[in-house]
Amino acid sequence: MVVFPSFFNIKSFKLTVSGAVCATTLARNGISVTLFDSARGPGGRMSQRREITEDGKELLFDHGAPYFTVTNPDVLSVVAEWESSGLVAEWKINLGSFDCFSNKFVNFEHQERRSKKYVGVPGMNSICKTLCHEPGVESKFNVGVGKFEWLENENLWLLTGLDGQNLGHFKGVVASDKNIVSPRFTEITGQLPPLDLSLAPELVKLQNIPVNPCFALMLAFTDPLPMVPAKGFSFTNSKVLSWAYCESSKPGRSSTSERWVLHSTMEYAKDVIAQTGLQKPSRETLSKVGNEMLQEFLGTGLSIPQPFFKKAHR
Ligand SMILES: Cc1cc2nc3c(=O)[nH]c(=O)nc-3n(C[C@H](O)[C@H](O)[C@H](O)COP(=O)(O)OP(=O)(O)OC[C@H]3O[C@@H](n4cnc5c(N)ncnc54)[C@H](O)[C@@H]3O)c2cc1C
Repeated sequence: MVVFPSFFNIKSFKLTVSGAVCATTLARNGISVTLFDSARGPGGRMSQRREITEDGKELLFDHGAPYFTVTNPDVLSVVAEWESSGLVAEWKINLGSFDCFSNKFVNFEHQERRSKKYVGVPGMNSICKTLCHEPGVESKFNVGVGKFEWLENENLWLLTGLDGQNLGHFKGVVASDKNIVSPRFTEITGQLPPLDLSLAPELVKLQNIPVNPCFALMLAFTDPLPMVPAKGFSFTNSKVLSWAYCESSKPGRSSTSERWVLHSTMEYAKDVIAQTGLQKPSRETLSKVGNEMLQEFLGTGLSIPQPFFKKAHR
């Protein structure tokens, strides 16, 4: 969503792929941009998670979007630029589909009909990480925007942090998250949404965009899974799992262990949220979710061994 009263000194909120691409486009056109994100680092739902095992091994996981495809020619030219500079690479993967009733793989993508799948290198967050350092872009993490106020007399936006801190005055604002006017914001933070809808009534339609929750389970195994013929596959007839991806098969990743990320079904995640609430899940909830997702994976009959690392995330 975009609110553009004038130019120069634009502020954008969210250091994620949409925010980062928008910010660099503005900066390349001579507009000075400040990016804010309440998260610890760049990426949003295209983040990479770094975990250290008890014996000191570093494990990296793309726990959000596993890859992306492109159909729009304008986007394709941007992605081609990223590909030539090594920020993204093609993941040559043949996706499959596993049926949990028959415990069999039932489908594989046809090589000739396969769409080109891209991943960030060395992690999905590489795009945001690089773009947030472009000239003209100043990036601030761990800063949640709590309020956007339009100051009529000054022709400026005043931004206030979730903690009440004054974040400054800006001539223009770009917000790329529907949270800005969503009642969900109140459920999570206990505060009113950042933008008063009366300033931009047309944004009411953003409240109707569905939110599809998902849990991700990060797993690491000592050896490759010998009975699994696909490095990425969907599940049919599972109430718990929707997808599985082999992280360590992506280009530019370490192959010292076999790492997988499992995604839950939306229904499973909604059930858990209905019982535990929308706030950040507790350690106990994540542990229970991790156990249930792993049990479903082990129950596929694919001779999956016990992982040496397991952690769930929402
Ligand atoms: C498990 C999973 C699988 C996915 N699979 C795919 C896939 O296969 N292919 C595909 O194309 N896409 C996939 N996606 C979707 C894709 O990741 C997202 O569409 C894309 O990353 C969205 O980017 P964004 O920049 O719009 O926002 P997001 O990445 O959602 O960014 C949200 C950011 O906004 C920040 N924020 C929110 N409120 C505030 C505030 N008040 N102040 C400051 N910061 C704030 C948050 O900290 C967060 O970093 C998947 C997503 C998930 C979670």
